[in-house]
Amino acid sequence: MKALEERIKQDGRIIGKDVLKVDSFLNHQIDPKLMQEMGMTFAELFQNEGIDKILTVESSGIAPAIMTGLALDVPVVFARKNKSLTLPDNVWTADVYSFTKQTTNHIMIDKRFLKSNDRVLIIDDFLANGQAVLGLVSIVNQAQATVIGAGIVIEKTFQNGRRQLDEQGIRVESLARIKNFNDGEVEFI
Ligand code: 5GP
Repeated sequence: MKALEERIKQDGRIIGKDVLKVDSFLNHQIDPKLMQEMGMTFAELFQNEGIDKILTVESSGIAPAIMTGLALDVPVVFARKNKSLTLPDNVWTADVYSFTKQTTNHIMIDKRFLKSNDRVLIIDDFLANGQAVLGLVSIVNQAQATVIGAGIVIEKTFQNGRRQLDEQGIRVESLARIKNFNDGEVEFI
């Protein structure tokens, strides 16, 4: 998506070797117009798939997920990150290792919000090593629902998330695909 690539070039900040900060428009301060355009783009990509639920994980996935849900006119569910070790039994859970925070989060979704006949589109802000999306896939599988695909705002193709999802046969659509951070510049595929 051209507008997104331009915004990344303009406002993204590279941290260390492999992290991109986009907190001025995506995951701290949010640009609603850009977010809406992203939602419409995801909706177009998956419009013929009979999606009836959008699934994401708090908090950075929520904004693009809502815009996609709005465009497809379907509900949006976000997995909560649970801090306590005791889990109620009315939830589906998965462990997700966080690439940026280097900690493991237990994510959970109330069983009321995911049913076996749901056709689910997973949305997230970044694809790095695939752990967040794989955690959501695991939850969808536990609920015996169907993963139709994953919509990613920014994919870092130099990490192995795409390969992990390919191995599970999951369709991945990314709005911006970063090849590398060369000399402090973001290069897209
Ligand atoms: P993965 O689970 O694919 O390894 O990493 C994806 C998750 O980590 C995303 O939900 C996102 O919150 C976070 N993440 C991964 N890479 C980056 C990055 O370069 N910048 C930011 N802001 N978040 C990232």
